[in-house]
Amino acid sequence: MTRRSVTIVGASLAGLRAAEALRRQDFDGPITLIGDELHAPYDRPPLSKQFLAGDWGEDRLALTRPDKLDDLDLDLRLGVRAASFDLVSRRLGIVNLDDGAGDRGGEELVVDGLLIATGARCRTLRGSEGLDGVFVLRSLDDSLAIRAAFGAGPVRVVVVGAGFIGAEVAATARTQGLEVTMIESLPQPLSRVLGDAMGAVCAELHREHGVDLRTGMGVEAVEGEGRVERVRLSDGSVIEADVVVVGIGVVPNTEWLEGSGLRIDNGVVCDATCLAAPGVTAAGDVARWPNQRFGEVMRVEHWDNAVAQGAHAARRLLVGDGEAEPFVPVPWFWSDQYDRKIQMAGRIGPDDEMHIATGSLAERRFAAIYGRAGRLVGVLGFNRPRQVMRYRMLIESGATFEDAIAAEF
Ligand code: FAD
Ligand code: NAP
Repeated sequence: MTRRSVTIVGASLAGLRAAEALRRQDFDGPITLIGDELHAPYDRPPLSKQFLAGDWGEDRLALTRPDKLDDLDLDLRLGVRAASFDLVSRRLGIVNLDDGAGDRGGEELVVDGLLIATGARCRTLRGSEGLDGVFVLRSLDDSLAIRAAFGAGPVRVVVVGAGFIGAEVAATARTQGLEVTMIESLPQPLSRVLGDAMGAVCAELHREHGVDLRTGMGVEAVEGEGRVERVRLSDGSVIEADVVVVGIGVVPNTEWLEGSGLRIDNGVVCDATCLAAPGVTAAGDVARWPNQRFGEVMRVEHWDNAVAQGAHAARRLLVGDGEAEPFVPVPWFWSDQYDRKIQMAGRIGPDDEMHIATGSLAERRFAAIYGRAGRLVGVLGFNRPRQVMRYRMLIESGATFEDAIAAEF
């Protein structure tokens, strides 16, 4: 298939990896990469870990070296937001965000191949938006702001949501000696992903490190005069706070595609090959597609998926329907909390069989494997990176649960 040009919207992980994959496939046509942030493409995982702790500087966040970026020969447009798209005319409306020089001009590009990689943004806690001292964490600027707030003295931190952001920010703040209270509406931290039993292991980890963890608890109000002073909980208790970090999930960035003719339903709806419409693909946190390996429609909000799907969606733009391959990854993520590296591969559900393959929950150093209908479907590790990768390969090979139990890694 001959493609004249490719436009990628979202100049971050999936978008950049897509551009690199296009050049690796010897695509030598024009590639436009559009991103609404002003920073060159950077990595997000350190923003809640090493960068937030002040151990790493901005230089360590770059997703690629400047010379490698130049080699890609991109028309890189930073500080530019995609505002609209029309599938029939293939017109993409873009707006220059104000860079201080007062330039907020808009224009329309006519695109050939389009790859959507606009990721997701944080949900906010209603009623808390205008208060100083209340933060969400998605961008480099968010992390810089929280880092400054943590550095302002012995601040009292309240973390709302014990998902990934909450658990990692709480760990970083405790490691800096700050007083931390973490509020979660579910019975355990991270329980949507890890299940209640493993969520309880995480809860213990945080409590042992001095986090005041309150689960099964809602936030009624975040209060203060101009600046946050306290958080009022659903059981009537009140926590004094200097800094509040809200980590209550994300919403995919798809508003700009309303009325485009593309199907939007909690993300950009794609087929099994990551195609959303002829000549349009999507990748990363914003993409929703049926993963045929698991027989499940997925939208995955993790780093490894953005990398692999960015490359897949790019290649998909260059091939015809007959040659297109389905995107069938075994999803994988890691999360660093204190001295624990938590990793999970595959998909686990509440009704899966679980077997501790190595180590013990008490030590919080183990690999647990999960089976469904006789197949190995997932692995969860606490400080067991080698085993997690090996079981991940077994999941990829379609191993039975019995074989996985028998394997000695
Ligand atoms: P994003 O990284 O969100 O990039 C999308 C880009 O598109 C952004 O720059 C956005 O500003 C831009 N954009 C949005 N709308 C428009 C528009 N209309 N026009 C132009 N540009 C637009 N995953 C792990 O597996 N392990 C980890 O330890 C881990 N840690 C994380 C820590 C933090 C603090 C965060 C925020 C995420 C973490 N993740 C982690 C998740 C991982 O970083 C994401 O899954 C990944 O960044 C998704 O990449 P993406 O390119 O799809 O989206
Ligand atoms: P998340 O992992 O979806 O967790 C949000 C948590 O907050 C959920 O447990 C949620 O419970 C809870 N919650 C929602 N509303 C609440 C409320 N009002 N009060 C208290 N708790 C509430 O999302 P996140 O932690 O905000 O992370 C944001 C994104 O960054 C995600 O895409 C995540 O994958 C990514 N990230 C990944 C990593 C990693 O992979 N290591 C690290 C950091 C960030 P309900 O489910 O019941 O709503």
